[in-house]
Amino acid sequence: MCASEAVSDAASDGYVYDPESLSAEQCTGDACVACHTRWPRPRIALGLLPDGAPVFGCGDCAALIGAGPLVAADSRVFAAR
Ligand SMILES: [Zn+2]
Repeated sequence: MCASEAVSDAASDGYVYDPESLSAEQCTGDACVACHTRWPRPRIALGLLPDGAPVFGCGDCAALIGAGPLVAADSRVFAAR
């Protein structure tokens, strides 16, 4: 077991998905990692695989998860927590 450096580096950048729980399309970025939508093609990086490859999600899921800059364009800003 000597592959931990790459994993910890990737983890600092976002959520690391378990490729065993994803489909081949999700692993290659062809489908949203959350809802499996393949079209429109997911464009927002929602996380990484353990090998550092990014996985993508659609805009709806990215907004739900709170990832990516797209949320800013169409989100309400709450003044209080
Ligand atoms: Zn989605």
